Amino acid sequence: MDRKKLLEETELFVLDMDGTFYLDTQILDGSLEFLRQVERLGKRYVFFTNNSSKSPRTYIDKLAKMDCHIRRDQIITSGDVMIEYLKMYYPGKRVYLVGTPDLEENFRENGILLTKNMPDVVVIGFDMTLTYEKLERACTYIRSGAVFLATHLDINCPTRAGFIPDCGAMCAAISLSTGKQPKYVGKPFKETVDMVLTLTGSEREKISFVGDRLYTDVAWQMEPTGFWCSPGRRRPVIWRTLTRCRMLCLQD
Ligand SMILES: [Mg+2]
Repeated sequence: MDRKKLLEETELFVLDMDGTFYLDTQILDGSLEFLRQVERLGKRYVFFTNNSSKSPRTYIDKLAKMDCHIRRDQIITSGDVMIEYLKMYYPGKRVYLVGTPDLEENFRENGILLTKNMPDVVVIGFDMTLTYEKLERACTYIRSGAVFLATHLDINCPTRAGFIPDCGAMCAAISLSTGKQPKYVGKPFKETVDMVLTLTGSEREKISFVGDRLYTDVAWQMEPTGFWCSPGRRRPVIWRTLTRCRMLCLQD
């Protein structure tokens, strides 16, 4: 495996955020230098985060405080992917959203019809304002036949204080109660890769996902149709963090 060649062939870096670019409000060493290097080489980057607790606007503000100034088209969240998924497969349907006020606003701004009564679809996000009432409603609606969707499958979210329960953990509780499994979007699923390809106009073969978590950030590259697994060509790649970007790690 020629690591240098792999980097040379990458034209678009899709960067994870939590645990990769920053931890909470603290940017990780080397992150800004990495972006500068990407720009210097005439390559591009976009941020993609599975963390649906914040809207793209909030992320843009958060990054600006770290002296990282990006445009709206340089940030995509699993919430964005879910909005597109709903528009495509459940247009005009009523959605019960278990999410933060930030995510609710993002959904409303994009024309998703939210309801607190019996919906057609239940969407679970990374809801840091989760209450027992929300959990109970979600379970009741899913048990009554509403479609069960979730923005991303991450079980825990890394913080400076350690891990906190994420969307996947919330879905596990709902699945245990209802016996139903959610349809996830976000990384590493096809819907996310397709959205990145569409929004960036990049070719699949010229994209590298960068992240700290194999089962979400990098797993798409291991799919049979994925780029990195083309026979005799490449293997999945993971950067543990951007701070150690020189320690490109190959997974067998
Ligand atoms: Mg991460």
